[in-house]
Amino acid sequence: MRTKKIKTFYTPKQVCLKDIEKKSFSKSPLKPLLLMEYLKKNGFDQVLEFSDEFPAFNKRDFLLAHTRNYVNDFFEGGRLSETNGLPWSLELVDSVCYTNSSLYHAIRYACDHPETLTFSPTSGFHHATPEAGKGYCTFSGQVIASRKLYQEKGLVGAYLDLDGHYGNSIPNSVSYFPDIEQAIACHINPKFKHREYHNDFKQELTKLTDLIREGKVHYVVWCHGADSHEWDDLGSQCTTEEWIQCSELFYETIRALEAELGRCIPVTITLFGGYRKDDYNSVLSLHATDIQKAAKILLNVDITYETMVQPRIIQNQFLSLSNERTSDQIKRA
Ligand SMILES: [Zn+2]
Repeated sequence: MRTKKIKTFYTPKQVCLKDIEKKSFSKSPLKPLLLMEYLKKNGFDQVLEFSDEFPAFNKRDFLLAHTRNYVNDFFEGGRLSETNGLPWSLELVDSVCYTNSSLYHAIRYACDHPETLTFSPTSGFHHATPEAGKGYCTFSGQVIASRKLYQEKGLVGAYLDLDGHYGNSIPNSVSYFPDIEQAIACHINPKFKHREYHNDFKQELTKLTDLIREGKVHYVVWCHGADSHEWDDLGSQCTTEEWIQCSELFYETIRALEAELGRCIPVTITLFGGYRKDDYNSVLSLHATDIQKAAKILLNVDITYETMVQPRIIQNQFLSLSNERTSDQIKRA
């Protein structure tokens, strides 16, 4: 029987305010704060239990996934410090020490207490490479978390990466840190779009459930990036309905497997990407909906909330432009 609260590994220290609002395309360093405010405003407090007592990661932790050269350079604001595509600041350095730690502690807690669903409101991990940052990602949080859990407890993980972009961090780390292949047994990044995307995810989930049954995967990390939504500035794969269906499919699969096995499976929710210059609340609304589905399906807790994803303004402008052209063409014809 699962506990009725989602244990949320959040501290304001994992947020970077400096230069992000005005100078950065990616708002991800602000996302933990924006999402926590959004969830509180929309009545999710009833299901969230906060934990802010996890310590910051230090340089030694980051060496589990990165070269000494890159880690030192990022901490000191050197040549490689903006390879992540974000404006560098000491505040950003401090915040990533907490985002990466949040993910690790959320997974670790779920492994120690499988009946508790855990949540790390973080992103900015899955494009980082051992030698540099990339694509708004600074350090490979999932590589660090999984190598730590494998080395400390012999635990093996699965990452369901439904961000709109391929999570290269894990495969890019293999030549540097070969034990990552033992530490992470399953790394899902669905291919295609719309119905085919959903079907591909479903097939991959079947393989995951077999690995869990066989005892080859001990914990699951659910990374439902909002940038797989078709109206995201960087996305294309899913409509709102399809995006939500992926959440439902995941949580229902876990629920069914738990009933079959007669035990809870350690599950951690995290955020990953999401970019809407015109309406950032659309990004937050997708993440909130994912939490709503988790609460309903896994914890049997109802949260009254209506998904609010706005059509892209830029797309509307384009549509009205093309409508004008069409009517223009009709007139000429
Ligand atoms: Zn992405």
